[in-house]
Amino acid sequence: MKEAAKYLIIGGGIAGTTAAETIRQQDKDGSIAIISDEPYGLYSRIMLSKPNFFLEKIPFEKVWLKQTSWYQEQNIKLIAGKKAVELDVSKKTVVLDDGTNIEYEKLLLAIGGCARKLTNPGSDKKNIFVLRTLDDAKGIIAATKTAKKAVTIGGGFVSFEMCDMLRMAGIEVTLLIREDCYWKNLLDETSGAMIEDALIKGGVKIIKQAEVAEFYGKEKVEGVVLKDGSKIDCDMAICGVGIFCPFSWLESAEIKAGRGILANEFLETNIPDIWTAGDSAEFKDIIIGETVQLGNWVNAQMQGKAAGLNMVGKKEPFKLVSFYTTQGFGLTIAFVGDIRPKPERVIINRGSKEMNSYARIIIADGEVVGATLINRTQELSVISKIIEKDINVAGKEKELSDPAFNLSSLN
Ligand SMILES: Cc1cc2nc3c(=O)[nH]c(=O)nc-3n(C[C@H](O)[C@H](O)[C@H](O)COP(=O)(O)OP(=O)(O)OC[C@H]3O[C@@H](n4cnc5c(N)ncnc54)[C@H](O)[C@@H]3O)c2cc1C
Repeated sequence: MKEAAKYLIIGGGIAGTTAAETIRQQDKDGSIAIISDEPYGLYSRIMLSKPNFFLEKIPFEKVWLKQTSWYQEQNIKLIAGKKAVELDVSKKTVVLDDGTNIEYEKLLLAIGGCARKLTNPGSDKKNIFVLRTLDDAKGIIAATKTAKKAVTIGGGFVSFEMCDMLRMAGIEVTLLIREDCYWKNLLDETSGAMIEDALIKGGVKIIKQAEVAEFYGKEKVEGVVLKDGSKIDCDMAICGVGIFCPFSWLESAEIKAGRGILANEFLETNIPDIWTAGDSAEFKDIIIGETVQLGNWVNAQMQGKAAGLNMVGKKEPFKLVSFYTTQGFGLTIAFVGDIRPKPERVIINRGSKEMNSYARIIIADGEVVGATLINRTQELSVISKIIEKDINVAGKEKELSDPAFNLSSLN
């Protein structure tokens, strides 16, 4: 079957859907099609790991962000439950897994990320989950209704939120992390210790430097064996061991990729008339002057908007101080801006573990580039502004390290 769309969008998540919405605001008549390999319209992926949704304290319907009627009203064709499997950039066509061939004028790759799965022996047993999609969440919700013991694997945001949800459901939880300290690659020892303490107080057993060797059980998982030979019984396991961008089908089209699809500040790829946005974009960030890939909702939404504008012919560079917040076990944790530790960067600590309120402000060349905040998320917005305005804070280290110092006075 042959079809055509002036604007073809692969991926119906927040980036792809926002791009479609933005294009429609600018071009009332141009045909727009969204291809999604999930059988749904836009839903809130961020809600999937939040206890209210999981423990069914809010109606399930709250997960839907766009109803079928919205696509009809906007004259946006949603082709759901179909995967794009081939791209021919010379013919400007995309082929779907049912053989449909779609010609495009402008193409957006908003293909997000896929959860990495463990491949250890036994990892195909029932009740071993990842959490990326609504269908994954439905599986976990069903399992938590009868589970008594769970193992969560990996020390990321989703895993942290899952531990909280599982404990609220009254399930015994063992958290396995590879490192010797929580979020070692992003945080320091103090932050890691605060999070670990909160998890332990919340009833989570943490096993550090833990490597899964295999899962045991009959059809369903009954436990995990670690590489040191120890065994942990469980009736469900949730793996949060990272995500990857599903771009392998684009390789023959010679779209340049690193960890994500490479793009400039206008979210254009190396191929004319093809853009990328959201979690799949490894883009030139004009605030930090480097190529980065992010994984957060607001970034994906705002990139969808910028890509949409660029696809209708505007020249809009993407500019946003990115942030991510999470809550659990009485902590609110936020990451803002560029928090990558680098030898030349200066880190100023603000607050302490004893105060149960602790921030790290990351400075490069006299300017704040990022911060991590534990129970200090009220400072997120002012720090974003300081980053965005490139305010020079050289010589202000003493003030910044004083938790009572009002950061707004730097603005
Ligand atoms: C459980 C969970 C909780 C989260 N919580 C937060 C939070 O609290 N705050 C926050 O800021 N961020 C959070 N995030 C991250 C946030 O959800 C993502 O950054 C955001 O959804 C990315 O949007 P996107 O549109 O770029 O990609 P996605 O939402 O991943 O959408 C991409 C879509 O494209 C589809 N697709 C991929 N390849 C193809 C193909 N070849 N053909 C057709 N379709 C394809 C995918 O299946 C998917 O439906 C969370 C993520 C998860 C998984």
